[in-house]
Amino acid sequence: MSLRSMILKNARILELDPPAVREGELHIEEGLVVSQGSGPELDLGGAWVMPGLVNAHTHLYSALACGMPLPAHPPETFTRMLEQVWWRLDQAHDQDSVEVSALVGGLAALRAGVTTVIDHHASPRAITGSLERVDGALATLGLRRVLCYEVSDRHGRAGALEGIRAHERLLGERGPSRGVLVGMHAAFTLSDESIRDCVSLARSAGVGVHIHLAESIDDLQAGPPLARLQSLGALLPGSIFAHGVHLEAGDRARLEESGAWLSHQARSNMNNGVGQADHGRYPSRTALGTDGIGSDMLAELQTAVFRANERPGSWGLSRLVQALADGARLASAQLGLPLGRLQPGQAADLVVLDPCPGPPLTEDNLAAALVFRLSSQQVRHVMVDGQWRLWDRQPTGLDPAELDRWAQQTSLNLWSRMAAG
Ligand SMILES: [Zn+2]
Repeated sequence: MSLRSMILKNARILELDPPAVREGELHIEEGLVVSQGSGPELDLGGAWVMPGLVNAHTHLYSALACGMPLPAHPPETFTRMLEQVWWRLDQAHDQDSVEVSALVGGLAALRAGVTTVIDHHASPRAITGSLERVDGALATLGLRRVLCYEVSDRHGRAGALEGIRAHERLLGERGPSRGVLVGMHAAFTLSDESIRDCVSLARSAGVGVHIHLAESIDDLQAGPPLARLQSLGALLPGSIFAHGVHLEAGDRARLEESGAWLSHQARSNMNNGVGQADHGRYPSRTALGTDGIGSDMLAELQTAVFRANERPGSWGLSRLVQALADGARLASAQLGLPLGRLQPGQAADLVVLDPCPGPPLTEDNLAAALVFRLSSQQVRHVMVDGQWRLWDRQPTGLDPAELDRWAQQTSLNLWSRMAAG
């Protein structure tokens, strides 16, 4: 018997990929689900258990944004929105606010049943060492993570080069808890030279890139971005292209053939007013992310379904539930371990939910239940790698009251730097 080994008895187990419901026990040994293990027994009293969720694209640096100074009038274009809101925020970050932001955003993820966070980080005035601060914060909470720095030429070539170098140390320290991609902001803020440098680093490390793609029409002004990225060698397998709201007709085939992933963020698309994604142009490898609007993947799924229902020919509920589940396939490939099912041999990353009284929960209605019945409010305990990282809604790795005090002061400092420009 050892730490990370136990038997969870009297559980109702919800599999997402494909949807299935069964009653029984889960045996966990050394952080893996096994068919027959030993260890202390915990009676879950009929609680629901599902695999840990994955947020396929987020920005933890925006976790302290609520309350920040905003422009007097809503920006008229997406680029103006970046200039007046998000780029003012990322430029105001220092190393401490990067870390606090990651702790606050990471805790929100755990409380929403997320066990792997795929982050796209930017802090142009505190680049070197910032990924290590994000990494340390998520390690404190016990989350698996896939990190990158969003390289951009918007602060000149020197800023781009520092962003590229910021990946180097963690790229050499990848493992089952920490994956690394090479991040780029978006084609429209990058020179050919900087894209080539990012691709070169990604190729030499054997990883993909993580970049915003055709999020708004602003990314199309210099021509179709994916075709340009392809010509510069950036369609590497395992890459994540975020949004794809305005994909070209041939982009689906490009993404399919490359082995890259698309991440879909319906709530962010609505909030930023960038348009409605055409799912007909999405590749089969599509996962869901939040783009920094918290980490509540069930809320994200619900909105994705509602948004799709507004557009004839979009994906239906089952296909979007599959995209939620496919986040675990994406994370598995990044981290090199099997995630996303509660079957022998898979990692013991799971969420224990308070049962929601109501109709019988079956294989046939589980997908609908994920959209209309389950919510993050039911999340009670979260296990990552066989260890409880959230117990009774409280993190086991830090004191939330202490984090709150630190976060309040850090937010005020961050916002005053924003206001000062
Ligand atoms: Zn994003």
